[in-house]
Amino acid sequence: MALDIEHLLTTSDPTAIDSLFHEACRLRDEAYGRKVFMRGLIEISNHCKNDCLYCGIRRSNTCHRYRLTKEQILDCCRQGHALGFRTFVLQGGEDGWMTDEVLCDIVSTIRREYPDCAITLSLGERGKESFRRLREAGADRYLLRHETADSDHYSRLHPAEMSFDHRMQCLHDLRELGYQVGCGFMVGSPFQTIETLKKDIAFIADFRPEMVGIGPFIPADGTPFEHEKAGSVELTLRLLAIIRITLPHVLLPATSALGTMHPKGRELAIRAGANVVMPNLSPQDTRALYSIYNNKLSTGSEAAESAADIRARMKAIGMDVPVDRGDFLTHNL
Ligand code: SAM
Repeated sequence: MALDIEHLLTTSDPTAIDSLFHEACRLRDEAYGRKVFMRGLIEISNHCKNDCLYCGIRRSNTCHRYRLTKEQILDCCRQGHALGFRTFVLQGGEDGWMTDEVLCDIVSTIRREYPDCAITLSLGERGKESFRRLREAGADRYLLRHETADSDHYSRLHPAEMSFDHRMQCLHDLRELGYQVGCGFMVGSPFQTIETLKKDIAFIADFRPEMVGIGPFIPADGTPFEHEKAGSVELTLRLLAIIRITLPHVLLPATSALGTMHPKGRELAIRAGANVVMPNLSPQDTRALYSIYNNKLSTGSEAAESAADIRARMKAIGMDVPVDRGDFLTHNL
């Protein structure tokens, strides 16, 4: 189905939008059934060597820095497994202390202790050899948002030392190493246009990632973009549906950024074709410190509480939340 992306992103015709969401959900249900897969997010470090202009944990922002110990990470996995999580997502800033040796030790221990679980990493750009070692240690998936498929736009969101080509190279390396790969972008990031969004969709259609993470840009205090406007919930929902229609089998999270912008943001995302939620399993006392944007969701709640809350919300809109790794399905492709 050839989509008129510009029309779908700009129309105010409610019938066109309803049928967009309807078609997205139909394709999702055909691929995966009425299931929402849970991933347990563990924010392992907020140290970062990068200075992305939008991010609250950028190097030059003054914030209290922390990193979890191996024992703390394993403790999060233990709690998560008991709560029915079968995917752990280790996310963090680009922290030089997290060498291949340190990370491979953590990943291989999780792999050994939880053979029934998928391990996803989201730790930014690394060299191909590092990605290879982490894959061999037991990582299955890697999330690395491309942030924008337009290199000029990329250079307005990042400092000169960060390169669009290197980010793209990382995505290709990950693919070659056999990871299930996730890319994605913020909706409403400064300088984004309909044209850059069309390039994002074209990139996604061409790269065919197994996962796509999108959520509204939310300003973060202390960053160069702190006074910029937040991204729109409505536009994010339309883009979720467009991505689902573009790649019917993609694993598509209803992100916390959407939940932060709207009390029913994650439910709306599921109704637009998303099929993944990522409740936070990080220790309660470090959650508020992983402040990539303002007013981040559930910084005060316990793991059990956020998992129960999200399960109840999904069930209330008629979705199952299975105890399942929720791998990318290749059947019917
Ligand atoms: N350092 C890793 C990386 O670069 O992929 C993972 C952590 S990074 C904080 C995860 C994602 O958070 C980024 O890819 C970005 O899209 C998103 N993010 C950062 N700042 C944000 C903001 N102000 N609003 C919304 N999303 C943001």
